[in-house]
Amino acid sequence: MRYPDWLKKNIPKAASNLRIRKYLDSTLHTVCESALCPNRGECFARKTVTFLILGGACTRRCRFCAVVQAPPEPVDAAEPEKVALAAQKLGLQHIVVTSVTRDDLPDGGAGHFAGTIARIRNSSPQSTIEVLTPDFQGRFSALAAVLAARPDIFNHNIETVPRLYAGIRPQADYARSLKILAQAAKSVLTKSGLMLGLGEKAEEIHAVMQDLKASGVSIVTLGQYIAPSKAHYPVREFIPPDKFAEYKEYGEKELGFKAVFAGPFVRSSYRAGEVLAQIRPGQAC
Ligand code: SF4
Repeated sequence: MRYPDWLKKNIPKAASNLRIRKYLDSTLHTVCESALCPNRGECFARKTVTFLILGGACTRRCRFCAVVQAPPEPVDAAEPEKVALAAQKLGLQHIVVTSVTRDDLPDGGAGHFAGTIARIRNSSPQSTIEVLTPDFQGRFSALAAVLAARPDIFNHNIETVPRLYAGIRPQADYARSLKILAQAAKSVLTKSGLMLGLGEKAEEIHAVMQDLKASGVSIVTLGQYIAPSKAHYPVREFIPPDKFAEYKEYGEKELGFKAVFAGPFVRSSYRAGEVLAQIRPGQAC
């Protein structure tokens, strides 16, 4: 499929990657690079990154994702400190940390998330922290370990509509993800996101947004899915900007979300600090 005009964006040059890399320990991963995010040029120019912890290889086989699917790497015990140091050097006011899915670890990596939050709090006490976690296979004990470290935002992406789960994220479970979100929302500002253009219908997106609202989610992100390669799940549709605007209006005006951030280039971590500032004035931007 040819990209429509609204989806044409300059691919970042290698130099922009190098500019950000000088702040990062060479062993650190960013989802910006691993997921080939189209916003890298813009985010790196603003010295913004999203850290990808627990290695660069994922134990699941989601068909939309560019992150390497391979046997997991040993957990780097020094990684929380390295993330904290990089965030401090970059001067980040809002720090987003995500991970590959580590179904091989007894706690799914929850303790490592908690340790990373604690280290960041130590070195950047004025910054806000957002975590974007896997589903921990539905284990509330793992979720509780992350929440005990008190992130400012807990994010878990629902990714797509339930009808498409089997073909796109076969090891995930829509109801299980909703349960994780509902449990988190009892104690922290909670966020979730979807990729559009995978073949879902508008009424299915509305239904997912209703489910997220009923689960206590406050912030929703909606962005256009872009296939990382021909081997990945194909794009079925390019959603025009005015359709994203309609979903935003539906979510904010009809369902009452605190914020729906929607647009072709929106990703769950895109301008995340600004989204937080929008709903909590005076916080990170
Ligand atoms: S939108 Fe998020 S993942 Fe993409 S480059 Fe920006 S910070 Fe990185």
